[in-house]
Amino acid sequence: MGLLSVGTPLPWTEAKKYADHVRTHGITQFLHIWDRLKDRSGDELLWGDEVEYMVVSFDNQQKNAKLSLRQTEILEKLSSIVDDICADCPDSVSVPRFHPEYGRYMLESTPGSPYTGSIQDLLSVENNMRYRRSLARKHLNPNEVPLTFTSFPRLGAPGQFTEPYFDPADAVSSHSLFLPEEITNPHARFPTLTANIRSRRGSKVAINLPIFFDKNTPRPFIDPTIPWDRNIYPEDHEAKDGAALPDHIYMDAMGFGMGCCCLQLTFQSCNVSEARRMYDGLIPIGPILLALSAASPIWRGYLADVDCRWNVIAGSVDCRTEEERGLKPLKNDRFRIPKSRYDSVDLYLSEDWTNRPEYNDTYVPYDEAIFERLRKHGIDDLLSKHIAHLFIRDPIVIFLENLDQDNSTNSDHFENLQSTNWQTLRFKPPPPNSEIGWRVEFRSMEVQMTDFENAAFSVFVVLLSRAILKFQLNFYIPISKVDENMARAQQRDAVNECKFYFRKDVYTPGSSAASTRTPSPTSSCSCNSGTGPKEKKLRNCFSPPVLPEDGFVNGHSVSDEYEEMTLNEIFNGKGDQFPGLLRLVEAYLDTLEIEPTALTKIQQYLDLVRRRSNGSLLTCATWVRNFVRSHPAYKHDSVVSQEINYDLMVAVDEIERGVRKAPDLLPEYYTGGNKDQGHLDGI
Ligand code: ADP
Ligand code: MG
Ligand code: MG
Ligand code: MG
Ligand code: MG
Ligand code: MG
Repeated sequence: MGLLSVGTPLPWTEAKKYADHVRTHGITQFLHIWDRLKDRSGDELLWGDEVEYMVVSFDNQQKNAKLSLRQTEILEKLSSIVDDICADCPDSVSVPRFHPEYGRYMLESTPGSPYTGSIQDLLSVENNMRYRRSLARKHLNPNEVPLTFTSFPRLGAPGQFTEPYFDPADAVSSHSLFLPEEITNPHARFPTLTANIRSRRGSKVAINLPIFFDKNTPRPFIDPTIPWDRNIYPEDHEAKDGAALPDHIYMDAMGFGMGCCCLQLTFQSCNVSEARRMYDGLIPIGPILLALSAASPIWRGYLADVDCRWNVIAGSVDCRTEEERGLKPLKNDRFRIPKSRYDSVDLYLSEDWTNRPEYNDTYVPYDEAIFERLRKHGIDDLLSKHIAHLFIRDPIVIFLENLDQDNSTNSDHFENLQSTNWQTLRFKPPPPNSEIGWRVEFRSMEVQMTDFENAAFSVFVVLLSRAILKFQLNFYIPISKVDENMARAQQRDAVNECKFYFRKDVYTPGSSAASTRTPSPTSSCSCNSGTGPKEKKLRNCFSPPVLPEDGFVNGHSVSDEYEEMTLNEIFNGKGDQFPGLLRLVEAYLDTLEIEPTALTKIQQYLDLVRRRSNGSLLTCATWVRNFVRSHPAYKHDSVVSQEINYDLMVAVDEIERGVRKAPDLLPEYYTGGNKDQGHLDGI
């Protein structure tokens, strides 16, 4: 989440009057940034992760695991601790940062300063994550544990799932049947977001996940835990009037989605065009890594037939009106909008010749006046369209005190829209008055239970991003196929059950990589031509793909460029043509000077990715599903009871600390994070 402004948030009826004001000044702010920084170049690779935690409060007498709502106190404590460490420590030590998130039980942590491209920094990621976790853990109550778990299994289920208990009847912002007001971060921004999304939409959000039918799950499944006849808020009738679908798990509030935890990565690029190239390169990777990191099979106390959070979050902030959703003819609203403001990327952005216009093949509404304004200012068609598309949305939270800003030094109005377009990738312009360059954020991954896994996925993505740039890899497939992959990625056991569209030939004609490619399944990829000394660090500023002199033209049909592959094939290769992402990453590693012990550690991370992708290790989601289905108290009716949830949360903590083995989930060399901090002893 961005910086939290203070002031008076406007209710939707007021806020909407200022929507054009915010958009107009937001664009002015972007143009200031553009004018100052469009030619900025030479920025080094800096990168960082964001890890989100839910603080779970264990009641070992009642055998209940609940969400601790002490976020405010915890963050106050952590920030004073962090300040103390800062006062004592040498400048070179990076002191972690903790940030608030939507859920009042959530924390986010980031490294104190971004990692550089050094191999040493690459290897410090896991320890950095562990340090952050242990710092947080040390300053919680003895029965509280920060878990990196994507969706809390019993959020919104009957009984007590928060500590302390609150009644959903008081949910004045969301009007939820299931979640109390106190689930939400009390800072004015969050209840206002929640209420204004509901008001703008004209109803509560409605999320329906297919239930996982186990052998004793009633058919049809009509959820007995929905208070169908409650009559407190005007929207209470929605559930029975069709919002809650049979055979589905129904959720009706922002907290179900924004209360999930994820793992995000941000990379600084050399300059704006390299940022756009990398953004495009990572777009088709978004759904692939969502599938591989799948970690959320339980929702509101039930096993779902999906493994991921994505559609839940998309639905949880879907502020589109009925007209915008295409349910009514357009009358008061301006656009039909195919997706929620939280969804997969809509447009490729690069100006490289490899980005064929045919790849942007979906209907993408954009604000024509804003588009014209950007074009007149000299901004190219693609970037203008990207911004004009983000700006079809209304600003949802506006602070009265913040309406007038100095547009040359402030970007709050721009960020108001930019940072509430929650897409799989985010193209981040430099903030004014900072040293920060053009960045790209990779946002699709689910958080894993251990920092070993979180580090492994992070290291894999940063190395892949370098391979994309260094070897001028071409991953383009039509956006419509990326969208299809997003849907498939969330299906139960997608790793083993689904195929994904992927590009068959990932080498750019004319690039050095293409001319030397002969990767065979037995040798490591030889796409690196091997000339020149090895590099000592991961870097930025690679040469862009150049249109070959022989006038190579894109004469063939786009539909010949891709095919459906399994995740195993995407990661580990298919035939002689497609080397697989892992071999591309290894080829990139070959271009670096890395000492053997460091290489061994990196190979362990890649090994985790390999074993998850070929099915020899389970995804987190499958492991969790199996845990529930083999629990002695499980009745094979899809219900994840308080007792099962308690045992699951205990197991997750024990796995993280390495005191419980999970050989089907983690490699044998995983020895655990914070062994010394058992919570169960002596409580
Ligand atoms: P968000 O707006 O996505 O919540 P955060 O500030 O929480 O962003 O996290 C941003 C991440 O980017 C952190 O991991 C941070 O270390 C990293 N970061 C900070 N500065 C840079 C930079 N100049 N280039 C790349 N990454 C950076
Ligand atoms: Mg976050
Ligand atoms: Mg953040
Ligand atoms: Mg954030
Ligand atoms: Mg932020
Ligand atoms: Mg982020």
